[in-house]
Amino acid sequence: MMTAFQTSTTVHLGNADNVLAQLLAHLREHDLVAVRRNNTWQVDYADAKITFSARVDSLHAQVAAPTAATLYEGKMMVFHHIQEFGHCAPEAIRWQGDQVKLERPPAFRLITVLAVSEVGPHMRRVRFRADDLARYDREDNIHCKLIFPQPDVLDPEWPTLAADGMPQFPKDDKRLDIRTYTIRRISAQQGWFEVDFVLHEDAGPGSRWAAQAVMGQQIGLSGPGGRTASPAGWMLLAGDDTALPAIARIGEALPARTTGVVIIEVQTPADRIPLALPPGMTVQWLYRASAPAGTTTLLGDAIQACAIAADEDRFVWVGAEFSTAQTVRAWLRETVGLGSREQLVVAYWRRGLDETQMKRAPARPGGRMQGKQAGA
Ligand SMILES: Cc1cc2nc3c(=O)[nH]c(=O)nc-3n(C[C@H](O)[C@H](O)[C@H](O)COP(=O)(O)OP(=O)(O)OC[C@H]3O[C@@H](n4cnc5c(N)ncnc54)[C@H](O)[C@@H]3O)c2cc1C
Repeated sequence: MMTAFQTSTTVHLGNADNVLAQLLAHLREHDLVAVRRNNTWQVDYADAKITFSARVDSLHAQVAAPTAATLYEGKMMVFHHIQEFGHCAPEAIRWQGDQVKLERPPAFRLITVLAVSEVGPHMRRVRFRADDLARYDREDNIHCKLIFPQPDVLDPEWPTLAADGMPQFPKDDKRLDIRTYTIRRISAQQGWFEVDFVLHEDAGPGSRWAAQAVMGQQIGLSGPGGRTASPAGWMLLAGDDTALPAIARIGEALPARTTGVVIIEVQTPADRIPLALPPGMTVQWLYRASAPAGTTTLLGDAIQACAIAADEDRFVWVGAEFSTAQTVRAWLRETVGLGSREQLVVAYWRRGLDETQMKRAPARPGGRMQGKQAGA
């Protein structure tokens, strides 16, 4: 890899060894494994190479990257983690080397509606045009953030970067709402991607915007982020309407040898869509009919009635309302005994809370925050 840009920081810390150990353990939890070379630890992150070393009274980090954008992202990763584990003020982290001055967060794209179509009675597909989509065109990172201006704002302001590199969002009347969606299809080469929006009751900024979307409108894009399913010999893919775009995309990319089960809850039979799955996978559709989304145990019950393969080459992926996700996650871990590398259960939304409130709310009374599970 070419590393045309380089920057480094030396942060004075009394307990640098300890801070580095915590930081590396945290990265490992997120599947970023550092390789040791003499007294340094090297991590590959979003095309940047990051090297950490602990000295007597300081922690040193160097970032090398092929572009200004990837250098910025590596630098932000180091900045946030040293701040978190070193408990130090942002001003304590000073950089030497190549300075990158970017107007906006490098992930940000302004995207324009190219076409709108109905996938079913409760789902609309929007095709967006955008430049420079290569970072979003990945099978292992299929989620994104869509950034919505307030509906009555005709000249929206978009996120910028402050002098210290931190993203800045407009406030008050010009505030932006951010919601997580799945990139259903993408062609970076042709400069378009599609998102399937559920038009749900109690509509928030995402579903409200999708219901009125017309050609030529512009919103923002950021990301991508979040883990997704790991292909395996046997798989269970399950979820409600919000997870249908992810299930369709994951399913169509699976190798033909994969066997297993797909379980999807929608409102009515008219909400079903064709799925391109390996021939050895069966599909079970569940209909909640007149029951509001997130109020039945239909999906959770069907998942718990499924015979999970005893084979080691297996993976279970579930995207669902918070309560179902909680129940299913506990069942998979405690009753079935699946390890963290064999399953991923994500709360896609939480009944009664909007996405911002969901991320701030504890998982259980007094429990963990939801943010990291929410993917992108
Ligand atoms: C990784 C990930 C990928 C996702 N991909 C998609 C996708 O491709 N398509 C998609 O449509 N959604 C997807 N979602 C779910 C979506 O982010 C949420 O449904 C989100 O709350 C929608 O934002 P909103 O502005 O419409 O509603 P919000 O402002 O967030 O919420 C307003 C109200 O609506 C309720 N609500 C939210 N979603 C639903 C629902 N489905 N049914 C009934 N009530 C609801 C909330 O509880 C709240 O009371 C995904 C979520 C995650 C975490």
